[in-house]
Amino acid sequence: MSALLESYVAGRWQTGEGDGTPLLDAGTGEEVARITASGIDLAAMVDHAKQVGGPALRALTFHERAGLLKALAKHLSADKDELYALSFRTGATQRDSMIDVDGGFGTLFSYASKGARELPNDTIVLDGGTERLGKTGVFAGQHVYVSRPGVAVQINAFNFPVWGMLEKLAPAFLAGLPSIVKPASQTAYLTELAVRKIIESGILPEGTLQLLCGSASGLLDELDERDSVAFTGSAHTAGILRTHPHVLHGGVRLGVEADSLNCSILGPDVSADDPELDLFVKGVVAEMTAKAGQKCTAIRRVLVPASMQDTVIEAIGARLAKVTVGDPRDEATRMGPLASTGQRDEVGKAVEALRASGEVVFAGEAPDGPGAFLAPMLLRASRDAVEPHEVEPFGPVSTVIAYDDVADAVALAARGKGSLAGSLVTHDPAVAREVTLGVAPWHGRILVLDREAAPESTGHGSPLPVLVHGGPGRAGGGEELGGIRGVLHQMQRTAVQASPDMLTAITGRWTTGSARTEDGVHPFRKSLETLRVGDTIRTASRRITREDIDHFAEFTGDTFYAHTDEEAAAANPLFGGIVAHGYLVVSLAAGLFVDPDPGPVLANFGVDNLRFLTPVKVDDEIAVTLTVKQITPRTSADYGEVRWDAVVTNAEGAPVATYDVLTLVAKTWQES
Ligand code: NAP
Repeated sequence: MSALLESYVAGRWQTGEGDGTPLLDAGTGEEVARITASGIDLAAMVDHAKQVGGPALRALTFHERAGLLKALAKHLSADKDELYALSFRTGATQRDSMIDVDGGFGTLFSYASKGARELPNDTIVLDGGTERLGKTGVFAGQHVYVSRPGVAVQINAFNFPVWGMLEKLAPAFLAGLPSIVKPASQTAYLTELAVRKIIESGILPEGTLQLLCGSASGLLDELDERDSVAFTGSAHTAGILRTHPHVLHGGVRLGVEADSLNCSILGPDVSADDPELDLFVKGVVAEMTAKAGQKCTAIRRVLVPASMQDTVIEAIGARLAKVTVGDPRDEATRMGPLASTGQRDEVGKAVEALRASGEVVFAGEAPDGPGAFLAPMLLRASRDAVEPHEVEPFGPVSTVIAYDDVADAVALAARGKGSLAGSLVTHDPAVAREVTLGVAPWHGRILVLDREAAPESTGHGSPLPVLVHGGPGRAGGGEELGGIRGVLHQMQRTAVQASPDMLTAITGRWTTGSARTEDGVHPFRKSLETLRVGDTIRTASRRITREDIDHFAEFTGDTFYAHTDEEAAAANPLFGGIVAHGYLVVSLAAGLFVDPDPGPVLANFGVDNLRFLTPVKVDDEIAVTLTVKQITPRTSADYGEVRWDAVVTNAEGAPVATYDVLTLVAKTWQES
């Protein structure tokens, strides 16, 4: 008898009670491990996450959390052989394992980088700008995102034991949520190995990752309004979770990624001679055979113009005929077995259902034997068939359906009732717009492929960490990825209403209307050690002469009539005469506020939100008020980013330009 898989519970590895259920090698049928969660203390897991993991995680800034994810990604990438070797036992070929194992590490790297670049070095995220709520500006509103003091339970499907875990873990970790990972039993041995490597590395704070091998029965009973469940799996199980009392009445947040009858549409513009036909056929075959079709994003419905149906079927069949099905360890094998014979039986049932309205137009060959091998199969169905839009064969099976025109193609796509991913292969921009706008309400992601995009296209079925992964309707409505959206999705957004001073204190970002500090020291002479939010310099004023404007026009070549031609400028309805270039105003403003000598300010790397509000006429006077708005020290550098609020005013005190100046400032500085 093989060993029982262990769960990682409240800081120690632990097996369940009893003999457990055997888990079999997909290719050989040999026992790999046994699994049971019987006797595992689920309440202790939830408590450990909340009492130990959560506080440790939320004590770190987003940048520190991102740094740990990066260290973890590097650590795991350095030693992949064991994971790859075990992955064969799930039926995955070397190429399939790349999607799962390297894809998972890539997601960690991507979130580490996004966390460091796009989130503040803080524990709060500001959502948008300040909303003024009263006449005088003493009452304002600011949306903020904060971490929730709960646990993220992640229930995963069997098809991506490594990537499926890491794509949920990474954004949850950045969001400040400790995770309890519950892999699907069938392939849990691979997730267990990956989690073991993570725990052994000691990189993640204790309590931020726990593993439950075996049934999750009873786990939701332990959750409350602080907690969330991210589920990936069948619509059937999703239905059970959706009606759990703690979801219905207890405030537990549930995100679902479920069945998806994804389609690929061949544009009506594509003829047999176009390169797009080949791209279309390759895409369908790749999606049918990668992971033996056990991908939530795989193409199940192939929608083609009626005139191209026979051509497409012939081309797909010819390609599928070259696909060798067999031992996933064999380099000549293109497609391995399904994850289990149980899974193969499920696909068999789905094919039976599809045959009620479709005929098989291609059937490949697969080896006999104890493994869960299944040959690829292509069916054809009429546009009125019901089953292709209802039944998900979670294996190497697709159905070709002919459409009459673009509107018909859109209507057929919509009959999937909500999908994760759809693709359209066309070289016609009008078709691209009409179909994309038509099918977008039913899709989480749409690939529009043609000869231009093909060289760099990541394909129909690859979820990318920077883009949303999820889909409406049948696909569940969940959102796991999408860059920082995937992080914010797991935080609490709250509208805070208060005075500007209170908002500055709460958010750590200077809010218009709150106190400024003018202590006689130019803020450009202060390093991050002494610089504070609210530090301000008010400059002397400067008159802008006609000579200044002429000089700037000639020097830069910007001789737009409003700056050079009195008569034409006078006729301009907005200016009524010569005005200074906006960029001249900004340049002169810099001349007013900079401190010229070498100092802690190292560089100006841009401006944000630049607006020109009032025209500056000849002989107008301008002055600048520059205030430290936000200070973001970089964890891995001896400097940080300082955002300054800049307001340029005229002699009447009216703002003529507002913007944020972005600089890099040293953490320490010694005046010589
Ligand atoms: P499944 O049978 O629904 O199982 C999914 C997960 O739910 C497994 O971890 C399973 O654990 C667990 N589970 C089962 N019953 C549960 C319950 N009553 N309470 C809590 N957890 C429970 O799905 P599957 O067969 O593994 O996966 C295939 C399906 O997943 C396909 O339909 C596919 O479309 C879908 N899928 C969707 C996506 C997506 O992103 N939308 C991605 C991949 C797969 P046990 O294994 O221990 O039973």
